[in-house]
Amino acid sequence: MSTDLQIAAARKVCSVNPATGETLREFACATDVDVCGAVNLAQAAQPAWSRLGVSKRIDILREFQRLLHEKKSEVARLITCEAGKPCVEALLTEVLVALDAARFCIQNAYRILREEPVPHGNLAMKTKSGSIFREPYGVIGIISPWNYPFSIPATESLSALVAGNAVVLKPSEFTSLTALKLASLLHEAGVPQDVFQVIVGDGAVGAALLNAKIDKLVFTGSVPTGKRIAQAAAGRLLPVVLELGGKDPMLVLDDADLEVASSGAVWGAFVNAGQACLSVERCYVHRSLYEAFVEACARKAKQLRVGDGSDSETDIGPLIHERQLHDIDVHVEDAKARGVRVLAGGHRLNDLGSNFYAPTVLADVTHEMVIMREETFGPVLPLMAFDTDDEAIRLANDSEYGLGASVWTRDRARGEAVARRMHAGTVMVNDAVSCFGISEAPHGGVQASGVGRTHGRFGLEEMVRSKYIDSDRLPGMKKVWWYGYGAGFARQMEGFLDLQFARGWGRRVKGALSSAGVLRKRKL
Ligand code: NAD
Repeated sequence: MSTDLQIAAARKVCSVNPATGETLREFACATDVDVCGAVNLAQAAQPAWSRLGVSKRIDILREFQRLLHEKKSEVARLITCEAGKPCVEALLTEVLVALDAARFCIQNAYRILREEPVPHGNLAMKTKSGSIFREPYGVIGIISPWNYPFSIPATESLSALVAGNAVVLKPSEFTSLTALKLASLLHEAGVPQDVFQVIVGDGAVGAALLNAKIDKLVFTGSVPTGKRIAQAAAGRLLPVVLELGGKDPMLVLDDADLEVASSGAVWGAFVNAGQACLSVERCYVHRSLYEAFVEACARKAKQLRVGDGSDSETDIGPLIHERQLHDIDVHVEDAKARGVRVLAGGHRLNDLGSNFYAPTVLADVTHEMVIMREETFGPVLPLMAFDTDDEAIRLANDSEYGLGASVWTRDRARGEAVARRMHAGTVMVNDAVSCFGISEAPHGGVQASGVGRTHGRFGLEEMVRSKYIDSDRLPGMKKVWWYGYGAGFARQMEGFLDLQFARGWGRRVKGALSSAGVLRKRKL
């Protein structure tokens, strides 16, 4: 086949501005050979990167942080252009999050990753000295989604890199340009080209990365893709972190501040046009506040300005593509057919372009509706009344997901008590979504929302294997538990166990006396 024909046959992905439909750039998907080549290069480059040491890698992260801060507006504009969100949201939820993730690694990586001496409690092991060493896996594959195309791969890559790993990133097919911008900033800061690589393409390229010789995979995306990845990874026992979808509940208790909570619900449901894994996907309100709350949400939703995210007056940008709008239509139409009250929106905004949907407030939803069971991932706020805290918690926990949740109340202790009873990786009291911006907070879900954690100490620990090295302090002594078994030895051992674990000092002293003989030289 001629080269021209090969290119013609290559699969392509396109970066498109979702507000205008303008094609920003077309990319040929990486082939399986490209993917294996990238992983091989990463594998070859990683040992030198690891040997460089944490302090030098921190210096490079500091430079990355400086560069990103300097180019913050340029990066935010690119994200808006490719993913649609208002530019100010790109600054706050993407650039700021990445800057702060770098700050977390700069301040904490050395302390978290350094050798950790382990004191031994078992008397028999007192002659040994042990330490935990944290070693990089080698090559970490990262597969990321389009909804936070900069902050998600950046936070994961920074922790992988500072721990001494090489990274091969497969970004979403919709947001390749943003991923390439991340790569150019990292390279400019001093990360070697082969230590951080981006391979562009669709799901099949992600599958090829999974099959290549990576040492761990960090995947962020939908539950169905996450399940496919888990199955494939199981076949070769590849360790994976799975950050998957959510159906986050918001509970508004009877003592909540109605004005504050309704503003929180509107922002939590509509930020990034509802395309946030932690967005408010279902809202349960105490019956005493319900009608006023529903009315406040509808009033506030109607005031939001939908449009191109590059306009500084825009509150809500476009959805990423038609498939997303289709899913929202299915959920909203099902809810309408089952009798919800539509208090705001409930339809596309075709006058603005093909990807816009009106901020939608639906009252009187039930758990029979698909909108309360499946992730909608759009600007829709479904509301339902409850009578008691127990009922609210039962409704919140009636879901296969378990990513985030929120509780709204004037009584912090009450909010935290309810939070402890909710099935979720993170529960916020009196806020929603913003925990993603707390670099110290572990991020991840329970149940179908995933496995493992990113962000903070736990996120950093995911990027290393722990190795235990144990050194005997008395190398010239045969160990008491080696061969030399017999009735006398068994009695000594019983005494030794009594010395450590018997109740009462008398039995312990007796145990010490009968075990003393064990220190005699072993025959074998
Ligand atoms: P998606 O699952 O369609 O795609 C995610 C990534 O996986 C993309 O890069 C895609 O190309 C790749 N992919 C697709 N099929 C693959 C395969 N068979 N093997 C390997 N890779 C494959 O998800 P999406 O639509 O990009 O993102 C939206 C979803 O991500 C939502 O469900 C959202 O809740 C979830 N999400 C979760 C978090 C979190 O932290 N838990 C954060 C953001 C988004």
